[in-house]
Amino acid sequence: MDTERSRGYKYERLVIMDSNEPIPSETNICKNCCNSVITNTSAKYGQWMLNIIFCSFLFTLFTYKSFKNSIGFHNNLSEMQINLTLKGVALSRFDSNETNDDLKYFLNTSQCFIPYIDPLMPEIRKLYKPHFTTDCSKHKTLVNVVFDNNAKQYILRMNMTAVQQIYTDNNLTMQRDPMQCCYQEIVRLESGSNPDSKISLLACTYFRQDYMVPPHIDSLLVVCKLKLDHKTITQKNAFFLVQVKNRTRYDFNATAQRKPSLILWGIDSVSRINFRRTMPQTFNYLKQRKWFELRGYNKIGDNTFPNLMALLTGQNQTAAMTTCKPKKIGGLDDCKLIWKEFHKQGYHTAYGEDMPSMSTFNYLKKGFREAPTNYYFRPMSLAIEEHLTSNKKAGLKYCVGNRQYGEYVYDMALQFVTRFQYEPNFGLFWTNSFSHNDYSVPATMDSTILKYLKEMETLGIFDNTIVFFLSDHGMRFGQLLRLPGGFLEERLPTFFISIPKWLRNTYPELIKNLETNCQRLASPYDIYMTMQHLLKINEPNYDIEAATGCTRCQSLFREVPENRTCPDAGISENWCTCTQYKILSSNRKEIKRLSSLIVKGMNDYIINKNLSSVCSELTLHNIKEAKQHYNDEDFTLSTYRIEFSVNPKTKPEAIFAATVKCDPSSHEITLNLNVEEDVNRYTKYENTAKCIQDKEAKKYCICKK
Ligand SMILES: [Zn+2]
Repeated sequence: MDTERSRGYKYERLVIMDSNEPIPSETNICKNCCNSVITNTSAKYGQWMLNIIFCSFLFTLFTYKSFKNSIGFHNNLSEMQINLTLKGVALSRFDSNETNDDLKYFLNTSQCFIPYIDPLMPEIRKLYKPHFTTDCSKHKTLVNVVFDNNAKQYILRMNMTAVQQIYTDNNLTMQRDPMQCCYQEIVRLESGSNPDSKISLLACTYFRQDYMVPPHIDSLLVVCKLKLDHKTITQKNAFFLVQVKNRTRYDFNATAQRKPSLILWGIDSVSRINFRRTMPQTFNYLKQRKWFELRGYNKIGDNTFPNLMALLTGQNQTAAMTTCKPKKIGGLDDCKLIWKEFHKQGYHTAYGEDMPSMSTFNYLKKGFREAPTNYYFRPMSLAIEEHLTSNKKAGLKYCVGNRQYGEYVYDMALQFVTRFQYEPNFGLFWTNSFSHNDYSVPATMDSTILKYLKEMETLGIFDNTIVFFLSDHGMRFGQLLRLPGGFLEERLPTFFISIPKWLRNTYPELIKNLETNCQRLASPYDIYMTMQHLLKINEPNYDIEAATGCTRCQSLFREVPENRTCPDAGISENWCTCTQYKILSSNRKEIKRLSSLIVKGMNDYIINKNLSSVCSELTLHNIKEAKQHYNDEDFTLSTYRIEFSVNPKTKPEAIFAATVKCDPSSHEITLNLNVEEDVNRYTKYENTAKCIQDKEAKKYCICKK
């Protein structure tokens, strides 16, 4: 039933938009079919699907030409702006919170034009099949953790209605068949060759109603059992408890010294386009509450690690690998992650991330020897993956126990910000489970995230907490990248900021600058500088360290120059979304030569890394697309972007995109596959690169076996 309801919801949304589309005379066909959708019978549903496919086809034909002009074929910005204005019409009905200018472009400065992409363009409507609900909870939770505000302690409270339901359903009585519940403390072991991945569960302690949890327990597993003749009914659940060990001496009312708390609420792989597409309720909430959106925020590296390290340490990937040594046990413990600075200044700190096997500091890395923050989610995520039942969506654990995986992280966040509402706190809460592998799955969490945001708002959390609601990059592989706009999808992570009212009133100049900078090019290095600035916000002559990965980057509370370029913001040409390219024929001689040189460069990289015994030699198969910087001439130094496939037997097809600057007649090119990341892979390489552990080289390796 849940599925049916969610389908009805989905189509109702799409219907509203379709019926408003400015399409040619065939409109009637579509209007009729749209009207028939409201009933949920499967026959009409099937008919409607056929109709909508037909309508989409007609609409696509109609818009195809202007669409091509607007995305890749233009060499003139004003022409593109006109096309995008037309395209924006559809969405303006869908979302009344964006102004007309918002719908023409994401960014429009003298040195950077990032076009707006309609999140529900006709091409995407053919593919996008969202479900807006999660359906993890079939059974009611038998035991909840409640914080007793008088005793200042957590208690375990049985949900007697849910317990009684089990007895009724099974025709039993509590007297004859008592239910027994116990809890097990989750303990981080911090030992051996993998100290960040070893945990143990302590012995089961049985408890009765409203049991007070000992104050040293951070996370626990609850197991309830009802033994019958032929079966055992078991429910397992897990909870993170933010036990307050020491309070910070802090006068919350002394405005001059008042420090804002800071929460980083991260969802992996969500571009600002996909955020609008898949999480419309959350997007509208942030817009209505006037959160600042960084419309020119551009990623600086391929995947999570380089982008988050730039944000948390100000370093580029190569420097982060050298100084933080993430592959060495204890390496990351000595790394200057920004939360350590917050901790030094009296902030309580927390870090929670789901999916321990692929998490930021652990995927092909050693993680932390000691817990990196005062409150650390990883032991609990290891425990729930091991001991709770789960099912998968898009290849990742999605429902764990009776909740969506991400909810455990958000519950921890909620506990943390509530316990320390009146003391400075810093939290990084990151999820991968519902967004990393499939661009459409975030839709299932839209209403859940909105619920958490509203709860925090009701509790008054945003009155003293700055929130960065962000992602690290967009989808890096799959269907989205094959569509017009795919180039931007990958490179433009979503980024919203909430600033408490008192901070806005106390520092109006800084807020004005932030508002201006929403319309400027920005990168994760700027966020690093901004967080440092926040730590010194009440020092008039503050001094902060430059980000080593981008010495010209700056706090976003200071005005960023209007004419900022990608190099100014530490963004290499391959990731830069500012400049426009014109399409060239893939058959041109120089394109074929350049493509071969790029493949040679990738092979040299594999050889230099001593990986050629396990990784196949790459051979150029098919040049899919070639572009040239729009105002470059053919006979001078020019920048090219070439998309090509190699080794045709690889599954999924190994497609790469490279950005190279060279003289087109040259027989030599310089490829930088480390810092600049001139080449990225558009298709998943998880399965084709299992033979090596080098995270950076995996992209270019197709295992021989
Ligand atoms: Zn990521």
